[in-house]
Amino acid sequence: AAPRPGVGLDALPLRDNLRGGTAYGAPQLEVPVQLNTNENPHPPSAELVADIAAAVSGAAADLNRYPDRDAVGLRTDLAGYLTRQTGVPLDADMVWAANGSNEILQQLLQAFGGPGRSAMGFVPSYSMHPILAAGTDTRWIPVERAADLSIDIDAAEAALAECRPDVLFVTTPNNPTGHVVDLGDLRRLLDAAPGIVVVDEAYAEFSPSPSACTLLAEYPAKLVVSRTMSKAFAFAGGRLGYFAADPSFVEAVLLVRLPYHLSMVTQAAARAALRHAEETLASVALLADERKRVTAGLEEQGYDVLPSEANFVLYGPFTDAARAWQRYLDAGVLIRDVGIPGRLRATIGLEKENDRLLQVSADLAAEEL
Ligand code: PMP
Repeated sequence: AAPRPGVGLDALPLRDNLRGGTAYGAPQLEVPVQLNTNENPHPPSAELVADIAAAVSGAAADLNRYPDRDAVGLRTDLAGYLTRQTGVPLDADMVWAANGSNEILQQLLQAFGGPGRSAMGFVPSYSMHPILAAGTDTRWIPVERAADLSIDIDAAEAALAECRPDVLFVTTPNNPTGHVVDLGDLRRLLDAAPGIVVVDEAYAEFSPSPSACTLLAEYPAKLVVSRTMSKAFAFAGGRLGYFAADPSFVEAVLLVRLPYHLSMVTQAAARAALRHAEETLASVALLADERKRVTAGLEEQGYDVLPSEANFVLYGPFTDAARAWQRYLDAGVLIRDVGIPGRLRATIGLEKENDRLLQVSADLAAEEL
């Protein structure tokens, strides 16, 4: 059959605030070196693969039934892991899980944002925060970061007082810059915020800095800490995110979540992955070492690299970031143009992948700098 042209988006009765919007679009390309979506490059071990397969096979026998709607077993395991990782005692009733932290953030906006409400974030940060705000019809208030791309806390306090957002996003370590917000600054933001504060800790395991979970007891009616198994946990394909907060926040998202949102397969696979947490997270130390090596290598080549406590680095300057991105791609290295003029973001990969990144960077530096 002949391809159908489609009527075009303009012909549809789309909600006004979505018109002219851009979909999330990290390119998914088959290239030898993939350093563009901040995944853990270490594949799961054979034992972990076998354990997940066995767990999923066990779940398969019950697929005629709906899964545990409240994922109590998984949340208990997540609470145990988070308690060990942060040193903050947490119970299952303080932990909620969903399909990736994207769904966690969406549920929070469904409950605390929405028409007539607003969400604030410090840009540049994770590109999904404004997209999720648009999807829930929450007005998005971007506040520019300081020249070094850290959060200017004085300016943030002023913006919070002026705009009074219902939701504040604080990403630490921040994507795409790698910056960490220390607990002192976080306290100032929490004190100044009139609404809830969602601390997006997607990259927390890569950082030696203390988790915002440390402040949960101090700010029970305000603070939500969002986490994911997609990054350090090497479980991006499994789609599992979670938050830690006062149990009342769990009650709040129960009002908006879809029933049975976490499939039996997802719950079983995530619990199996959690049983191997220690072994998986051993790769985090290797990646931190590689981040130091890549940073030093790029700096030696004359690049300016932002200090990062995550599994990626933002660096430059490039006279034309889009053109430089294409040059990396032509050389088989997929990194990310996050739209910051003159800068690109590269995920830290395996040693060989990082060597390739450094090689191509050296070639470009010879032309550019
Ligand atoms: N938060 C931040 C800061 C991220 O960088 C990402 C992934 N790019 C996410 C949340 C969402 O990840 P996921 O839905 O896979 O948990």
